[in-house]
Amino acid sequence: MLRHRRLAIIVSILGLVSLAQAQQKAKAAHIPTPAESVGFEVGADRKLADYRQIATYLKALAAASDRVEIETLGKTTLGEEMVMAVISTPENLRNKAHYQEVARKLADPRGLTREQVDALAGEGKAIFLLTCNIHSTEIGSSQMAMEWAYKLATAQDEETRRRLGDTIVLLVPSLNPDGQIMVTEWYKKWVGTRYEGGAMPYLYHHYVGHDDNRDWYMLTQIETKNMNRAVYHEWFPQFWLDEHQMGANGPRIYIPPNADPVAKLVNPLVHRGNNLVGADMGWRLEEAGKSGVIYGYSFDAYWPGGTRNTGWWKNMYGVLTEVASARIATPLEVAPTELQGGAKGLITYEQQINFPNPWPGGVWRLRDIMDYELLVSDAALETMSKYRKELLRGVATMARQAMDSAEPGTVWRIPIEGQRDPITATRLAALMVEHGVEVRLSGDKKSFLIPTAQPYGRFADEMMGIQRYPEVRPAPNSGILEPYDVAAWSLPLMMGVQAERVRLTPAELSAAAVTKDIPWPAAGLAGTGKYYTVADQQNNAFALANAMLKAGSQVFVSRKAGETPAMIFAAHPQLAVNAEKLHLRLQSLAELPKEAVPMKAMRVGIYKSYIPSIDEGWTRFVLEQYGFGVKNIENKEVKAGNLNNAYDVIILPDSSREAVVDGRSSREGYFEELPPEYTGGIGRDGVRALKDFVEKGGTIITLARASEVVMGDEFNLPVRNILSSATERGRGVQTADFNIPGSLLRIYVDTNHPVGYGMPNEVAAFYDGPIAFQTSAPAPDVQRSVIAWYPNEARDILVSGYAHGAERLERKAAAVSFTKGKGKIVMFGFRVQHRAQTEGTFQMLFNAIYWGGM
Ligand SMILES: [Zn+2]
Repeated sequence: MLRHRRLAIIVSILGLVSLAQAQQKAKAAHIPTPAESVGFEVGADRKLADYRQIATYLKALAAASDRVEIETLGKTTLGEEMVMAVISTPENLRNKAHYQEVARKLADPRGLTREQVDALAGEGKAIFLLTCNIHSTEIGSSQMAMEWAYKLATAQDEETRRRLGDTIVLLVPSLNPDGQIMVTEWYKKWVGTRYEGGAMPYLYHHYVGHDDNRDWYMLTQIETKNMNRAVYHEWFPQFWLDEHQMGANGPRIYIPPNADPVAKLVNPLVHRGNNLVGADMGWRLEEAGKSGVIYGYSFDAYWPGGTRNTGWWKNMYGVLTEVASARIATPLEVAPTELQGGAKGLITYEQQINFPNPWPGGVWRLRDIMDYELLVSDAALETMSKYRKELLRGVATMARQAMDSAEPGTVWRIPIEGQRDPITATRLAALMVEHGVEVRLSGDKKSFLIPTAQPYGRFADEMMGIQRYPEVRPAPNSGILEPYDVAAWSLPLMMGVQAERVRLTPAELSAAAVTKDIPWPAAGLAGTGKYYTVADQQNNAFALANAMLKAGSQVFVSRKAGETPAMIFAAHPQLAVNAEKLHLRLQSLAELPKEAVPMKAMRVGIYKSYIPSIDEGWTRFVLEQYGFGVKNIENKEVKAGNLNNAYDVIILPDSSREAVVDGRSSREGYFEELPPEYTGGIGRDGVRALKDFVEKGGTIITLARASEVVMGDEFNLPVRNILSSATERGRGVQTADFNIPGSLLRIYVDTNHPVGYGMPNEVAAFYDGPIAFQTSAPAPDVQRSVIAWYPNEARDILVSGYAHGAERLERKAAAVSFTKGKGKIVMFGFRVQHRAQTEGTFQMLFNAIYWGGM
């Protein structure tokens, strides 16, 4: 009783406080405009507000308006505060927690009757998430966000009031604040010069650049995690609109419907909902006299890696818009003769039913981008308001259908024991929980179980199963539609985790408890001794090796014929705590086996070009995650030579030879000029310096296309890429003959080679080619090894995704190594650490680094 009374008092105090806040806000006579806050007209030519100004403005708006609140999503990679404005009527905001609860129940309607769902859909508010500017150079939406927030906070007309009464808007002005700041700083630095509006010579995210929108099923980056938490654990928005920009010479805006192909497991109601929104967007744009509106173009309904796409498999409506770009904030004049189609849905730039009113060309500016974006944001809000009840009910319907269509008792089972890397297997289960998927621990505590009969069951099936890309042809005898991005995302295969789809008895299923806190494998030191050992087939063993070497302790790798290699650690005061932290269980050893070889702390340099390589960022990210000491090397340092003084290993991330050697992004034609300090590549001098580095004992690791850098005359290695231009009479292999756009392929690994230590004999490797190594007999001073190779028969090559022309990979090498002088070269033709997703092959990269010191 007492507790209740106290609670009542607290509630009434809270009520008074919020009432007082509301009165205070009402008293603030003036709601600041964006221009008053930032000091210039937002959207004017050559003017940009940076993220800090935008966040400051939204906070000022929240302080002055009772329709706006601010939530903090978390910190960014570089420590900025990620904000989200919550915009609705004051009444809805007061009942925010209640509407979140309604949304959560509709997303997971288990236990509710049809009538209860109907009542909740009637009572709930449409929760509408609008995310802006995930791609930092697509700057318009970050500026538009201020204007739209101001409009929603101040408009007094009936229409706006009705829309706000029906919805709660979650407005994220930038999904990558760090990059927004980099781009605005770069733009301001060069405005008024010949480099105004030009390319930046580095990635616009500390690690992943443009790939921040390729991270939404793996959730590796902090910004992705922050948004994911708000979406699938706090707000459960029914609708997600993500506003982007595209190229400058085609249509002015892309709206739904999406282009083909379409993913089998996404509920068709998702597309029906999206198309309702798209229809209203198109109508309002035409009504406002905006030309160049296209749908069914370029952006498919198949790939789950981007913001709102991932949500489709979780019964969420999600729409992408893409507006044509200017040169950042600088107007761009497009001549009518420069307008072009060339993408799926618009082969030639002509009037057609999905493009009824082509833009005629002319000047295109930031203001135009923002005007189109304001119109589609309003249209989406209007659709949410008009179809509120139906759309909310639809989410519950989709969740029901996901459960009804699942085979009863079917689960994805991830055994905990018997995994090559039990920690990575556990990480997969934890990732599913982070996605909002229900994961259970089996009654005997030996497996994680993911029931397919759950609201997000289709998401689980998509992520745990394998892909077969649909070969959709737009016309008879035409080629197939190309995938938008990669064609495979089978998480167990990419992570090297065993999982199977099995059917449980009702008793087995009910014995399995839902678990939110995934238990990690038992960790620490078992027994006491001078040494401790752990199987060298767990990625975290490398993190422990790096930590202990950094602490000045000794680490060894030991390999007896026919046995799993082991990593051996000398006893050290920090060993137990580090092992605990990394979930590793170490066994004591009385003495050091005689075959143990010491591991040396390696100084790793990652080459960084001014033609930014996203793979450079991902490589740096993965190595930092595992505690490797890495440093970037830029052109000047490479050219200066004497690289052995500072590095033991140099990694050349995926880049073309032109980008690395000449600093050019393409073989021929126009490319954007960078300011003088950023022009050129490592040049011939740099290539010679790399060769000198190897001869004096250094190790070079090349990733994917970067193998071309060491395949020239300078190194004279007995290897060629049979799919590269050099062997195909001046042009590369054509996609009509060979097309593997990001798939998982079977490779065999030589586990006796130090780069293959601890690996299984056969593994799924991520491949986006076109690379197939062919080695030949070397000169006497060179040794060559094939570390991994593709199967003899094309039909055995594809594991998940899409592979056309796989016969060209038959019996070809996937990874090779050379020793030359005192040093080594390792070339990976497949994507060994692709987007930090391929944990199943990370170890080969880690091995290659440590091989350099053996
Ligand atoms: Zn984009």
